[in-house]
Amino acid sequence: MKTKAAVLHGLKDVRLQEVELPPLAPGEVMVRVKAALTCGTDRKMYLRGHPKFKPPFIFGHEFTGEVVEVGAGVERFRPGMRVAAVNSAPCNQCYWCKVGNQSMCENMFLQLSGAFAEYAIIPAPIVAQNTVEIPAHVTYRQAALLEPLACVVHGVERSGIRLGDTVVVIGAGPIGLFFNSLVHLKGARVIAADMKAERLAVAKALGAHETIDLSKVSDPVAAIRERTEGGRGVDVAIEAVGLPEVWQTAIATVRKGGIANLFGGCASGTKITVDTGLIHYNEVTIKGVFHFTPEYVRRAMNLIAQGAINTDVFVTHEFPLSRISEAIEYLVNQVGIKISIKPD
Ligand SMILES: [Zn+2]
Ligand SMILES: [Zn+2]
Repeated sequence: MKTKAAVLHGLKDVRLQEVELPPLAPGEVMVRVKAALTCGTDRKMYLRGHPKFKPPFIFGHEFTGEVVEVGAGVERFRPGMRVAAVNSAPCNQCYWCKVGNQSMCENMFLQLSGAFAEYAIIPAPIVAQNTVEIPAHVTYRQAALLEPLACVVHGVERSGIRLGDTVVVIGAGPIGLFFNSLVHLKGARVIAADMKAERLAVAKALGAHETIDLSKVSDPVAAIRERTEGGRGVDVAIEAVGLPEVWQTAIATVRKGGIANLFGGCASGTKITVDTGLIHYNEVTIKGVFHFTPEYVRRAMNLIAQGAINTDVFVTHEFPLSRISEAIEYLVNQVGIKISIKPD
């Protein structure tokens, strides 16, 4: 089966070409791609590469589609079904899976490719565990937000947010904006902080009660604390940027006994400095939350189906597959939030 696809050949090198997809192996599902979205991970792979995935491969990993063919042994899906799949599946055999921490699976099956094409193959482990049918009233484009949303559902569920809390979300890219929505749903007051006014406007539309334009502030910690009662600090700080200086800012904004969820991944080997007094005398909890589990994928799909999230604001631009280079330019320059790439 031939498909037109945007293939990543190396750093900053994506080419539109015909690719021969292999015949389906047992357990696999082939879909006609209906919606594919860009993601910050795509941007990193394009600019800096990825330690685990060496080009060439079909670029993009967030997509939904209509099933056109199923491999041997697939019973849950059949041609014509509308499906969304995420990018990974745990092994369910290792120590971490067995103790219920599937997001830390040692043998995590991970695939970060295949989306920007007319047809895509969903690998067997993902078909078995992390592929879901899209409810009839949900669009392909809405359901394509499943994977990043699943990450954030996990992040929120482990942040200890309580009704009436004040939570700062630093970073208003797609992940920070999902945090805005879900923290608001949790009944907390959200302070959104970012360097870009247009992203803060979206945060506001998603439920942020206050916004801070960090490009106009000399002391971000003071600016955030100022917005809490008596300057005592936020109950929960969420870092959704992935820079060491922002991690340190997030930690410094937390009240005594509060939680800093450092969600944005920094370059490997990055170190930060923390005042031990914050952890000792102030009893601040500093934690990271990574990835998701099949449970959070289900919860994320439920939230989309319930209409609990304003999914429309996340996709700001759309390009046909034939204009992939323009889409990539937007992605690289961080224009808009997410870009939809539509097969022609
Ligand atoms: Zn992604
Ligand atoms: Zn495992």
